[in-house]
Amino acid sequence: MERRIIIENIVVAKFGGSSLSDSKQFEKVKAIVLSDEKRRYVVPSAPGKRYKEDEKVTDLLYLCHEHAEKNICFDKVFYIIKNRFVNLVKELHINLDIEKELNLIEEKIKNGASADYTASRGEYLNGLILANFLDVEFIDASEIIFFKENGTLDEEKTKFNVNNRLSNINKAVIPGFYGSMRNGEIKTFSRGGSDITGSIIASYVNSNLYENWTDVSGFLMADPRVVDNPQSIKKVTYRELRELSYMGATVLHEEAIFPVRKAGIPINIKNTNRPEDHGTLIINDIGPASYVGTITGIAGKKDFIVITVEKSMMNGEQGYCRKILSILEDHNISFEHMPSGVDTVSLVISEAELDGKLEAIIKEIDRECNPEAIEVHPHMALIAVVGRGMNRTIGISSKVFKALALSEVNVRMVSQGSSEITIIIGVENNQFEKAIKSIYEVFGN
Ligand code: ASP
Repeated sequence: MERRIIIENIVVAKFGGSSLSDSKQFEKVKAIVLSDEKRRYVVPSAPGKRYKEDEKVTDLLYLCHEHAEKNICFDKVFYIIKNRFVNLVKELHINLDIEKELNLIEEKIKNGASADYTASRGEYLNGLILANFLDVEFIDASEIIFFKENGTLDEEKTKFNVNNRLSNINKAVIPGFYGSMRNGEIKTFSRGGSDITGSIIASYVNSNLYENWTDVSGFLMADPRVVDNPQSIKKVTYRELRELSYMGATVLHEEAIFPVRKAGIPINIKNTNRPEDHGTLIINDIGPASYVGTITGIAGKKDFIVITVEKSMMNGEQGYCRKILSILEDHNISFEHMPSGVDTVSLVISEAELDGKLEAIIKEIDRECNPEAIEVHPHMALIAVVGRGMNRTIGISSKVFKALALSEVNVRMVSQGSSEITIIIGVENNQFEKAIKSIYEVFGN
């Protein structure tokens, strides 16, 4: 029978590669884990970069596998990995025969171990070390995370095993990134997948909070390459986050959001190097909006083409848009937005997606749809101004457009998505940065 954990106040803490890149970082992680007894299940990534030019252990492991497959000697690469782990154990003064583990792994790679097995060893070894260092139980992810034959997560089996194994364990370390197939073979999630492991564990142990520890104090309101020192977002809903990430903001692994979102568990993005910082709390969409009055974030992407088709009485003609869209479909092209007017409809398509097909498409629209005019605006950028309070607060859009007008940004297109939490603004590529800066100045800080 399935056992469920009913203990309240469980926090699952996932630590990314930069949080566990060397012994100093391990010390910080230990202090964080021990400072709150609710932090019961800890999910580590493999050691990441210690400095800009450094290599991530996972990348080195993939390289070992690649070399082994081509019968190229990988001793040197493996030596770098070995050194990192051996030093780590030494510097942390723990009693763990890591060399034995490493030798076994090396042997297996030599004997044709799979890429997934090889890559997963970064998390496995880091997990062993962390469990030892924290003096808590180590639970191999291959014993509780399972994949189906088709490579997707076996939710039922995983849920059962997570519950079963963890219900009587007060604290444990479970390595991220991998699990196993029914036949026992190791399988990994896609790159960056330790986030997914953490999210799965958090949802199946009914935790109250999923903490994702990294090297930044949460998400920023705007891209720091565009805006100087943007402030971080304190609270964001899952829906807002989806809008921001779709428009280019780098956030969590998409698949990592799903399990906790479904279970209604908030995620807190925290900074291992500045644990006192608030970070970003990602909360559920339902329930009363916790705040109104300003925006949450700004994100954007460049290089779109807008094709505007004009035809009088378009609204009375059945199937008109379908005809246009089927032309795109025939060319295997997806569009991003489709703002429409009484007699016009525009298609916003990324330039990369159109890739040399524009002329043919225009000709077909002309032939099939008999429009009065087709206008093409290349080099357009889209900016998304996202805020859950938007639909309840008067004056937000007027502030946005006033800021753009004062900075002499020419707004070429506006679309308020039906979600009502985003205004999409189309500007020329060369006004992109100016537009974002001017909007940020009104709402940021
Ligand atoms: N170590 C894996 C990667 O580099 C997984 C992770 O870090 O989340 O992709």
